[in-house]
Amino acid sequence: MSRRLFLPLLLVIAAFTFQSAPLARTRIWQSESSVAIPAPEPIPAPEEVLGFRPGDDRKLASWNQLLTYFNKLDQASDRVKFEALGKSTMDVPFVMATISAPENLARLEEYKKIQRLLADPRMLGASGARDRKAVELIARGKTIVVITCGIHSTEVGSYLSSMLIAHRLASSDEPEVQEILRNTIILLVPSLNPDGVDIVKKWYDKTLGTPYEGTSPPELYQKYVGHDNNRDWYAFTQVETKITVSKIHNVWHPQIVHDIHQQGEFGSRLFLPPYMQPVEPNVPRQLVDGYTELGNWMATRLRAKGFAGITTNSTYDAWTPARAYSHYHGGVRILSETASARIASPTTVKFGDLRSRDGYDPQRASAKFGPVWRGGSWSLRDITNYMTAAAFTLLSHASQNREQWLRRFYQIGKEAVRPRKPGELHAFIIPPADNSGRLLKILETGGVKIDYPGAFTVNRQRYRQGTAVVRMAQPYGAFAKALMEVQRYPDLRDGSGHPIQPYDVTAHTLPLLMGVPVTPVYNRFALTRPKAERSKGSNGGCGDGARRAIYKSHVPSMDEGWTRWVLENHARCLFHTSLQDADVRRGNLLKQFPTIIVPDQAPRAILNGHRAGAMPSQYTGGIGEEGVKALRQFVEEGGTLIFLNRASDFAIEQFKLPLRNIVTGVPRKDFFVPGSILRIELDTSHPIAQGMQKESIAWVEDSPVFEVIDRSTHETSVPASSVRIIAWYPANKDPLLSGWLLGGNRLRGKAALVEVAIGKGKMILFGFRPQYRAQSLATYPLFFNAILR
Ligand SMILES: [Zn+2]
Repeated sequence: MSRRLFLPLLLVIAAFTFQSAPLARTRIWQSESSVAIPAPEPIPAPEEVLGFRPGDDRKLASWNQLLTYFNKLDQASDRVKFEALGKSTMDVPFVMATISAPENLARLEEYKKIQRLLADPRMLGASGARDRKAVELIARGKTIVVITCGIHSTEVGSYLSSMLIAHRLASSDEPEVQEILRNTIILLVPSLNPDGVDIVKKWYDKTLGTPYEGTSPPELYQKYVGHDNNRDWYAFTQVETKITVSKIHNVWHPQIVHDIHQQGEFGSRLFLPPYMQPVEPNVPRQLVDGYTELGNWMATRLRAKGFAGITTNSTYDAWTPARAYSHYHGGVRILSETASARIASPTTVKFGDLRSRDGYDPQRASAKFGPVWRGGSWSLRDITNYMTAAAFTLLSHASQNREQWLRRFYQIGKEAVRPRKPGELHAFIIPPADNSGRLLKILETGGVKIDYPGAFTVNRQRYRQGTAVVRMAQPYGAFAKALMEVQRYPDLRDGSGHPIQPYDVTAHTLPLLMGVPVTPVYNRFALTRPKAERSKGSNGGCGDGARRAIYKSHVPSMDEGWTRWVLENHARCLFHTSLQDADVRRGNLLKQFPTIIVPDQAPRAILNGHRAGAMPSQYTGGIGEEGVKALRQFVEEGGTLIFLNRASDFAIEQFKLPLRNIVTGVPRKDFFVPGSILRIELDTSHPIAQGMQKESIAWVEDSPVFEVIDRSTHETSVPASSVRIIAWYPANKDPLLSGWLLGGNRLRGKAALVEVAIGKGKMILFGFRPQYRAQSLATYPLFFNAILR
């Protein structure tokens, strides 16, 4: 395969490819604990174990092969300690390699303790003595660097690179590597989603050599949440997130987290921080300085080594804690995004196809981009070269600036625990409520200390037994603050006045999403009552025996996975079956299920699925006209058909419902809600809204807004009188509660949740996501009532 790489890049490749001969090493702890002198083992290169070098075209390693390689590395090298931290969702080992100089590996507990003390300076004693003690700890400590790979499993470069990075660290005697090993402790996670490694490899190998080589699998690569697994760093719903937070972050408090990703084929070759605006206001200034300095330094070094097409300060923002646990726990997140090939197959990118987006033009050098990459072949080897080179520049900075990283870390801890001044936020008070347990559990998982002082009075307000108090003056107070206060996303526009698309959603106010009332306190207060036991909510029974079906497209929908997760993890653990396109087309649905849920998905994906020729034929075509007919019959005979968010547009179009989505086709500058929490009002006399307050919330993101229309003006299959409005946006109040909303006046008085009677059954259309990422507990009752009724 021909590649057009210029000389400096070739030299970099050479540096990685032709390393010194394998070195013989013994494990110190082995020779100490056993009588026999262990035979030295050579450090194995990945190709000796896998049969190919990671990054070779069209070759993917299985999870087992990767485990075998790291186990051999652990056995052969006294610089590597490899261990399983738990089991993944689908029950395979979730692993981490700790890599450092042998003398550091022998004293890991001591380094953990230094981290704990610097993270929480209150533990260093009276405030006058803290700085002096900190100086001594900083002199002894190491920079803790977590490197995470493979959370998004089609981005195959990083888990493959993890073996190249580990091998060079374990085997090289270059001075640069020696210095890294001396000054840093590297916690390398070869994949944050081990299940996905094999899901993608199986699909890739199956389609290799066919017209479908290089396509993404027709299923989610994490059992429940697919790509959204990287949006779980505060909700902590998935086991992989929980393991990473409880066994790595909360134990080691890393100063640097390098999270290695891939992006599309046609933009920059590599993104590095600083992030574009906006930055979430609770991210400490020292971390913004830290990722700006480190990201820019890496970009400069990589450019000097001949790497082209690098962008900084574009594309990705630092707004949400959902992707950046470390930004609230004393460490910088260094996201890198390397351009993709076609999974492990090379691609060719024409210079003219390089797309301009997100504030830089990949065809022109600028302050945010350069030097220009001229296009041409782009392969997995290019990807692993960018990734491994970036990781080593990051490690060099971590090593050369060890003291500075530790000092910065201590400063963040000091600022976090300082007593708050009058007028600053001092605490949140959380009285016991239906969902407060889930909120408190999230805070605790994030390292937030919670007090339960019994009954008490603050600012003349009495609080009962079981009320929780979360003070801001503690190491991770900013995490609690970010999750509990309201977000005001800045009104960012481009040169022509159009709103700039946020990288992700704009709100994460958990008290609103979960319907938990919290009270902020802005002055000093004292609590004198003795501690009381915290009440635990009951879990209830499990399962009601009824069967529900969830529509599952071959075009993977993350909301479909979230829906399954929510049903399985709800207190009543509702049984469900997945219904694929062919099952829907086959019809005869009511005999099998009384209720079918169609999760959030683009209407065209539901109707047409993958186009013919894009995938093997059993995965192409959606439910089609036959499926539409079968669903209509299902409802007419007495079934309940529930549509979530964008799927409601599918229902309106395909069943000619007497409804109109009033925001279809409205330009962004006139109406825009990129994932925000809005206010709705409910008809609590309707069974779906029974037991709820009159006012609630809705998670609105690419959502339809309904207006009832009439047969005199439109061709509809049932009269307007068959529609019942269950929820609507208030006529006289601002609909925005948290996040960003443009053109909110259009929503006033319009419907957000409706039921349409058809024959003996009904269709229920949600104009929002009632079970958004398993966080919007406030609207779970609407969803469950719709299902259970
Ligand atoms: Zn990614």
